[in-house]
This record gives sequence, structure tokens and C-alpha cells, in this order.
Amino acid sequence: MKVAVVGAGYAGMALAWFLSQNNVDTTVFDVGGGASHVSTGLLHTAPGKWANPTWRGAEGMAATTELLEIASKERPCFLRNGIMRIAANDVQREKFGGDKLWIPEGITVFSGLYINELKKVCKNVCFLNQRVEDLSELNAFDVVILAAGSEVSRFVDLPLKRTIGQCLLCRWKERLPMSLLSNGHITPTEDPDLCLVGSTYEHTKEPDPEKALQLLDVCAKFYPPAKDFEVLEIRSGVRVSPKVGYRPIVEKIGPKTWVFTGFGSRGLIYHAMLAKSLIMNEILPL
Ligand SMILES: Cc1cc2nc3c(=O)[nH]c(=O)nc-3n(C[C@H](O)[C@H](O)[C@H](O)COP(=O)(O)OP(=O)(O)OC[C@H]3O[C@@H](n4cnc5c(N)ncnc54)[C@H](O)[C@@H]3O)c2cc1C
Repeated sequence: MKVAVVGAGYAGMALAWFLSQNNVDTTVFDVGGGASHVSTGLLHTAPGKWANPTWRGAEGMAATTELLEIASKERPCFLRNGIMRIAANDVQREKFGGDKLWIPEGITVFSGLYINELKKVCKNVCFLNQRVEDLSELNAFDVVILAAGSEVSRFVDLPLKRTIGQCLLCRWKERLPMSLLSNGHITPTEDPDLCLVGSTYEHTKEPDPEKALQLLDVCAKFYPPAKDFEVLEIRSGVRVSPKVGYRPIVEKIGPKTWVFTGFGSRGLIYHAMLAKSLIMNEILPL
């Protein structure tokens, strides 16, 4: 069986790993620039404004942690130091039972490094830096999985919404041992001198750099040293989510074609769990 995966973000990479583990002849197409390379790397079970426990959160955490450990053979791709959530409003204060909620199992993922290291351990997978313009180019494959993030709508019409997200790559003087999360968030990176400050949610067509730069003021309210961070780069990406709810879309859309997208802001918690289930339950039995 020959499988083509379009996309090498979190979603496509998890598919590639489980296919390679099962010795499936796999080719991954990617052109870079996806949301995963912009992601600030927060992984925990109560994301979102209301900090509610997310659907199958513990299972997602376990599956992602396993993949992170596999990718970290040569270089650590994540910090398992917890996440401090600082209440951003009264609803959260009531929920947290105070101003802060310590999430001991919270993980910070070094997203770009994670994807690159995972590529190295995916044996016998062919990674092509090539854009797929039309699905007819993939006729030679027995199975095609579209893990193209926000670009999936080039191939299929799905009920999805797009939200732009920006973050700042900054130099900081003193590294925090864990991530801080409130209205904005600050996450360490693999480079002790650099952190990511995130994230904006913009329902516009283009990213708004001015809004991105305001993130420093937002974060300085709960971590005053943030106002002295030196901004090195403004990064932007597009999150794509289902129009209703937040569960990712894993769907067969043709005799040999699946879509695997709609991860919204929850790519980290769901990519490994759902990729494993798609490969084991639907693709391998073919
Ligand atoms: C600023 C920001 C911060 C975020 N922070 C977090 C966070 O802290 N935690 C979290 O869990 N999530 C976070 N997210 C969300 C997370 O990034 C996404 O859920 C995740 O990246 C989705 O992964 P994906 O693989 O589906 O898509 P993508 O990462 O977008 O990957 C799609 C890939 O498909 C490729 N592609 C597309 N079309 C084609 C084509 N025609 N031919 C070949 N290749 C193609 C692209 O090159 C791209 O690499 C954040 C997002 C943003 C924007």
C-alpha cells in the first residue's frame, strides 16, 4: 500500500510516524509555513478562555507525550515543568479558587524542533518539499490523507473557520522555568535566551502586526519583566477549526481520500491520539 500525506505540521507528522512504525510506504508533501511552526507550544488538558476540561484530554496528553519522548531521543523537544495559569477574569478566579492555577502536568513543546526531530525518526518515509496543486497528481497512491491545515479547503469544501494567530519571538534576560498563561502567554523555547509571547486571535484577512506588539503590554500585566523583552520577530499563522464545536475533523471524503484537519488551538493535544486511531482503525485494515 502506498500512502500520500499532504502536510507535515503536527497532524501530518503524527500520521507519518504511525505509518512508518507499521512499515507503510509513505510520502509526505509539504511546503512549510503552517500553523505548527508558529505554535507557542502549550500542552495541557484545560485550554481555552473558560479553562474547561477538554474532550478526551487525558488520553490526548498521554498520546502526545509518548510522541514527544520519541522525538526527543537526540534533543529534548519539550519541557515538562508545569504551566502557571493566572486568572484573567472573575469567572476564571472562581474556577481556580484564587488568582492562580498551577497545572503540574502542563508541558511546553518546542514546536519547530519537535517536527524536525520527529522527521529524523520516521524511518523509510519520503519527505518532499513540494506543493500538491491538484489531487489528480496523487493518482499513483492507494490512500491520500489531507493534513494540510488551513489549506485543506483548496481540495475539499468543509465547514471550517479560519482565525489568524500571531506571536512574538523575544529575547529575555532571565529564563522562566515554565510557561505562564493568562490573557496572553509566555513560553520558553529550546534556546535559553529566547521565549515566545502569544497569541492573538484575529478574525481578519491579514495579520495585524500592531496587535501582535500589544502582546507585550498584555503580558506585562501579569509578568512585569515582559515589557523589557526585545522583539526579534513577529510570527503569524492560521488556525482552522470546525464551524461548530472544536473537535478536529477526521473524515473519509472519497474512495481513497481522508481529511485530517480542524485542530484549531488544540493541535498538540489531539494530533497524536487521532492520528494513531486513524492509521490503526481505518488505514491499516485496508
Ligand atoms: C500563534 C499560534 C499559537 C498557537 N499555539 C498553540 C499552542 O500553544 N498549543 C496548541 O496545541 N496549538 C497551538 N496553536 C494551534 C496549532 O498550531 C494548530 O492546531 C496546529 O498547528 C495544526 O496542525 P496541522 O498539522 O493541522 O496544520 P499546519 O501546521 O498548518 O500544517 C499544514 C501543513 O500543510 C502543508 N500544506 C498545505 N497545503 C499544501 C499543499 N497543497 N501541498 C503541500 N503541502 C501543503 C503546509 O506546508 C503546512 O506545513 C497555535 C496556533 C497559532 C497560529
